[in-house]
Amino acid sequence: MPEATSGRRPYMVGNWKMHKTVAEAREFLQELLSSLGDAGDDVDVGVCPPYIALAATVEELDGTGVGVFAQNMSAARDGAETGEVSAPMLLELGVRGVVLGHSERRRDQCETDRSLCEKVPAALDAGLEPILCVGESEEERDEGEMERRLRHQIQEGLQQVPAERLAEVTIAYEPVWAIGTGRSASPEQAQEAIAFLRALLGDRSSEAAERVRILYGGSIKPDNAADILGQPDVDGALVGGASTDASDFAELVAAAAG
Ligand code: PEP
Repeated sequence: MPEATSGRRPYMVGNWKMHKTVAEAREFLQELLSSLGDAGDDVDVGVCPPYIALAATVEELDGTGVGVFAQNMSAARDGAETGEVSAPMLLELGVRGVVLGHSERRRDQCETDRSLCEKVPAALDAGLEPILCVGESEEERDEGEMERRLRHQIQEGLQQVPAERLAEVTIAYEPVWAIGTGRSASPEQAQEAIAFLRALLGDRSSEAAERVRILYGGSIKPDNAADILGQPDVDGALVGGASTDASDFAELVAAAAG
């Protein structure tokens, strides 16, 4: 990974989605920590367990430097929101940040750019690190609509974030057609889209565009990681399926360390 040239520290985050009970999470984390070795020294590493395993994951990872992220949160601090979880609740557990706008939530839970417009600043204001997911569908790509879609998602999601705080948000470029399909973007496609996202941020703040970390996500595995992670604008990955296997995820972290 080109930290020396970009100045941005590589970042690898594993999204477990709805996998692992508390007991499975504990077992997995022991295995992950022993597989990681010192690969994590040069890379920021995070994991995103389901809500019920957050507390156990924080406990298992205490003192390791590996961050714990939730997979969603409400924009409200509290209130009549059955089934929701707020930023103060996550902070109380020792969670570092939160993934927002994952395409599975956009598709299945009616997550909208409008709601993300509130969630991203709510996370920042509470002291959580947001990872904002954006990405085009296959149809949008085929119809030449990728840039329009990404622009819209970035503009809405970051609208209420002041320019001086933009670099505190991590962006994950996740083309919907590559998520869980086994069909990753090519290194060139990942670079092109991520460079476009960086340029969009540059319209708000050139300094933030240089500093913000933009991850690739979509069917990344040990055998395709090096080429994608080697692209100049790709600062790491948000990993789904392969992050639920401790040795695969450790291999991906090692690939990011270069
Ligand atoms: C994801 O869900 O964020 C993801 C990238 O999934 P996968 O790696 O399984 O495609």
